[in-house]
Amino acid sequence: MLRKSHQAGDFVKSPAVVKASANLILTRLQVTDEIDLQIDSQTILARSTAKVSDSIAKTIIIGSGPAGWSAAIYAARANLQPILYEGTYKPEMIPLGQLAFTTEVENFAGFPAGNIRAFVESAVAKDRHYNLPPAPAGHEKDGQPHYAVQGTELMELMKQQALNFGTEVISDDIESVDFSGDVHTLKPASGEAVQAHTVIIATGARANYLGLPSEEEYKNKGVSACAVCDGALPIYRSKPLAVVGGGDSAVEEATYLANLANADTIYMVVRRDQMRASKVMQERALSHPNISVLWNSTVGEVRGDGKLVNGLRIDSTVDDSSRDLEVGGMFVAIGHTPNTSFLNNAVEMNEKGYIQWAKPFRTNTSVEGVYAAGDVADDYYRQAITSAGTGCMAALDAERYLAERE
Ligand code: NDP
Repeated sequence: MLRKSHQAGDFVKSPAVVKASANLILTRLQVTDEIDLQIDSQTILARSTAKVSDSIAKTIIIGSGPAGWSAAIYAARANLQPILYEGTYKPEMIPLGQLAFTTEVENFAGFPAGNIRAFVESAVAKDRHYNLPPAPAGHEKDGQPHYAVQGTELMELMKQQALNFGTEVISDDIESVDFSGDVHTLKPASGEAVQAHTVIIATGARANYLGLPSEEEYKNKGVSACAVCDGALPIYRSKPLAVVGGGDSAVEEATYLANLANADTIYMVVRRDQMRASKVMQERALSHPNISVLWNSTVGEVRGDGKLVNGLRIDSTVDDSSRDLEVGGMFVAIGHTPNTSFLNNAVEMNEKGYIQWAKPFRTNTSVEGVYAAGDVADDYYRQAITSAGTGCMAALDAERYLAERE
């Protein structure tokens, strides 16, 4: 079978098909170099010997979360001279991605709690120290600051690591793409279009929130969209908590919180009289002794003392009644939206709007030379460490694709 993809290890079966494949590759690359055919008794590998042009970037990375920085570190060390578009400040998304909205990150391997600030300040360039959030007060051990790395610190460290290896970072958004040619064209919000042989899309997904002003006020002060990331933090410990939503994510979040040591009651706030979650997940929530479901309910207001959340106003969705609920935190689990609108469907997406990986355990998209890493292609794990892992994979995939052309 003739495969569209042209990568190391892509074998085609007959000389006729190889010829067709070779022509296809030549057309797609718009080059005139010879196709080097390596023939053995069973299989024939078509390998382009076209040189990658110096005037076109080898790799452009879009996105500045763990997937983007990890891809940049690997690409830079592989001498791909990556250019990374880190985005600009917008209400729903900022450079450094969702982690920049997070406080302490206790589950990123290699970052145990300690005097993190001293390390961060020694590693991150001084002109970016202004960007670091205040070190959490009152976390001390043996007279030293002692806290888990904060999301922004972790991202600044990754950025520094990428810069140290020569990544070019551009503070701009990519507004549109053209993947129809052999070389990929990206249009930044300001400035001329840029071209690259390989593109790594690492633009992430943003958690959906309810949109209440009080919710905004208490983000990171008792409002979170990730129980696995934040649930074990001291501000939530041993307190009744609310999880908003009735999907599988909400059940997972509620169960995770309910299983933590010293868990108090976990309220699930479900807007209908049934959950969207799968039956098995529903059963998990409904049978859990620590989980209590508030049906036909929605959050009308997040309440607090200015510093931390201490309650919610729960409104009925079937009548005009409201009630106060005493909780120390609210976890919103009403779905995510992948940041893919700028792609205008230039790569294949799955039915949920996330970029579809074209091969199992590879980061290839439906377009040759275009790779996707992190939450933009993952609606399942959505962890900083898994994003970083797929960023590494995307850089290796891009490197191998380019090596085929050198
Ligand atoms: P879903 O879209 O499946 O569920 C979203 C939930 O949030 C629904 O209960 C929805 O209510 C509710 N909701 C949406 N908007 C609001 C709002 N404004 N106010 C109050 N409630 C609201 O998203 P999930 O993130 O849960 O899941 C995404 C996908 O990932 C699903 O396909 C899911 O199956 C999958 N997944 C699977 C897991 C597993 O198998 N272990 C774990 C996590 C996710 P309503 O139903 O009324 O629309």
